[in-house]
Parts: sequence; C-alpha cells; structure tokens
Amino acid sequence: MRKISKYQNNRRVIVKKPELLAPAGNLEKLKVAILYGADAVFVGGKEFSLRSNASNFSLEDIREGVEFARKHGADIHVTCNIILHDDNLEGIEEYLCALDNIGVKAIIVADPYIMHVAKSLHLKLEVHVSTQLSSLNSEAIDFFVAMGMDRVVLGREVSYEDLVVIRNNNAVDIEYFIHGAMCVHYSGRCMLSNYFSHRDANRGGCSQSCRWDYDLYQDSQLVNDKENKFSMSSKDMALGLNITSLIELGIDSFKIEGRMKSLHYVATVVSTYRKLIDTYCQDPDGFINSDFYKKELLKAANRAVCDGFYYDKMDQDSQLFSSRQEHPTQEFVMRVLDYDKTTKRALIEQRNYFKVGERIEIFSPRHDNIEFVVTKIYNELQEEVDVANHPMELLYIDMDHEVMFNDMGRKVV
Ligand code: SF4
Repeated sequence: MRKISKYQNNRRVIVKKPELLAPAGNLEKLKVAILYGADAVFVGGKEFSLRSNASNFSLEDIREGVEFARKHGADIHVTCNIILHDDNLEGIEEYLCALDNIGVKAIIVADPYIMHVAKSLHLKLEVHVSTQLSSLNSEAIDFFVAMGMDRVVLGREVSYEDLVVIRNNNAVDIEYFIHGAMCVHYSGRCMLSNYFSHRDANRGGCSQSCRWDYDLYQDSQLVNDKENKFSMSSKDMALGLNITSLIELGIDSFKIEGRMKSLHYVATVVSTYRKLIDTYCQDPDGFINSDFYKKELLKAANRAVCDGFYYDKMDQDSQLFSSRQEHPTQEFVMRVLDYDKTTKRALIEQRNYFKVGERIEIFSPRHDNIEFVVTKIYNELQEEVDVANHPMELLYIDMDHEVMFNDMGRKVV
C-alpha cells in the first residue's frame, strides 16, 4: 500500500508527489520545461522514435539535455516507440547502450523486441511501456510487469474509475496523460492519415486528417453548408484541478503531451501544473479551488478543451465538429534575458510582434503574473522604437516591476 500523505504539525501533507513529465521538441524547450518546474522531460531521439516531424534530438543533444537536467535535479526520458519492421532492427543494442551511458533515465517503448533487448542488456535504463500499446486494464499491466517493464504509460482512454481499479491492482509505476491533444481514434491505432495523405500516423507522420474540413453527405445530400464544413477532431485534454484526485490516488507520473508544441505552451502548461501540484501537496485539506489554473492553461490552448476520458466516455461536447471552433493561443511576444534594477529596464528577446501601448503579461515559475503597458521600446543602440517586429531581436523595454532571466511575456487579449 502506497503512503500518499502524512500528518505534520497537525496538518496533512502529501508525501508522494507525482512526477511532472513534460514534452520537449528541442534543447531550448527542454531547458525551459525544467526551469519552469518539470521533474522530467521526454524527448525523441533521431533513431527508433515516432514523431518524425518533431525536431528530434541527436545523441549529443541528449547528452547536453541530460547534463542540464542533472544540474537541476531532473530526469530525461527518450522515446524509442517506433513499431519495428525487419529492416529497422539494426543498431538497437548500440543505441540503447549509448543512451544508458549518457545517463538517460528511461526509454519509452512500444515494440516488444526493443523491450526484450533493453532488458537483456541489463542496463540502468528503465523501460516504460508506451501509450501506443493502449494499456487500459490491470491484466495487461501485469503482463508487462512480468516482462520486467518498469513503468506503464496508460492509454488516454482510461477513466478515473478505471484508474482506481488499476492503482489498487498494480504496484508498478503508472504514468497518466493529464494534458494535451487527443485523437478521435484509440491513440496509436488510427489510419486516417495513412489513407488520406500516405503519412503513417503510427510512425510519427500524422497529417491530422481528423482535423481537416470535410463535406458531409447523407444519402448523397450535402448536410453541411459551404461555410461550415464538418470536422471530426477531438477537443484537447486539460485535466486541471482533476489532478488533485489523481495525486490522492498515488499516480506516479503526470504526462503532458506536445513535443511539437511551442515554447510558450511548454512554459505555460508546465508552470501551471507545477504550481497546482505544489500548492495542493503542501496543504491538501486547506486547498482552495481556484479558476486561476484553468485560466492559465487556456492561455496556451489553441483548441477548446475537455476532460478527456476522465469521466468515462467522450461525448459530443468533447468533439469539435467545425474547425472554426478552434481559437488562437494568447500570443507569446518576449523572453526576458536581463533586468537592470537601477534603470528599471529589461533586456528581452522578441518572439512575436508587439508595439508601444499594448498590454503584456509577464509569467514566470518564480513569481506571480505581472501585467504592464509597454511605454518605451529601445533597440540595441538604445534608440527608441515604436514596434518590435524583428524575430529574436534584442530590445530593451522600460518596466517598473522587477523581472527575471527566462521570464516570458504574452499579449493580454
Ligand atoms: S488523424 Fe487525428 S485521430 Fe488519427 S492519429 Fe492523427 S490526430 Fe489522431
């Protein structure tokens, strides 16, 4: 029986904090994920990984990521979740040994052959069963435990009720998706993209065909009007405050989806769940439900969100039947590089267009959000300019509130 909490000075505290596991498509996102509060980051290697479109990591990148993670007490997991054909088998042993040498904590695996090789090499690497295998029940988990697997990443289709049964029946580490994109098919079992665009979703090439615009016919009659095409996309999952029940259940790891998502998404989602987990674990019985967390998560959402399968089945409220229901993310405009307390001037790196007069919100893992109106912008020569319209340009802006290195700014809309 796992001990989830204990009493300290007459107050209950959570002693079994879940790991917060973040995605990263490149080194910059990996570092930001850790600085914004991730306990671990999962990345795709250039070999044996899905997500062929994600900017996957070379061994050198993984080494740098592991070194950075170690300095901050975090871990790196590497996806090796390709479904192998016979012509993909070569080089697996060498690759896994290299990851082990570098100090990667775990590999995420879907193919039984890689599971077998990883275990037979007797490496320190943990082997985690990928969500691609749709593990939804205790017996399937037992099967993987018998194979020596260290953790099972559940399918997104597991409800809270299922989780209670799984947690009661299985002692192995359980990883559960709490946030990110959903498929309208069982994850990892969709062929829409393969049929429509010859891009294999199960080998990382999904062209998101479920989110395309379609004409819908019934008995040869067009049902939709021309402006309102039909789409069959799922809303994204955002469990938000529901994760407090998952903490009490002793789920070991909370996974955020999105290796191909933006830096702003990674920073916003990770820091919000970090604050939520830490605040709840300090004083679970005094925890006050607040809509702050939901509002923060929506700032990085480019689609409407839902509870996924948490309350069992997805229904029509969990679907997007028209792509026009998608909405833009709050715009990420700057990253702070430095702040001079004497002049009250921040050095920033521009990430998107903004101008004098616009309202910006600075967010950070280390302080509350700060809102201000841009009054003065200066270029590198300290000449005043009205607009920041060059990507990655270094600029100075006047800011009364003290900000810190790696804080980020987004437009208030
Ligand atoms: S087409 Fe849609 S349902 Fe299919 S794998 Fe891609 S995102 Fe998932």
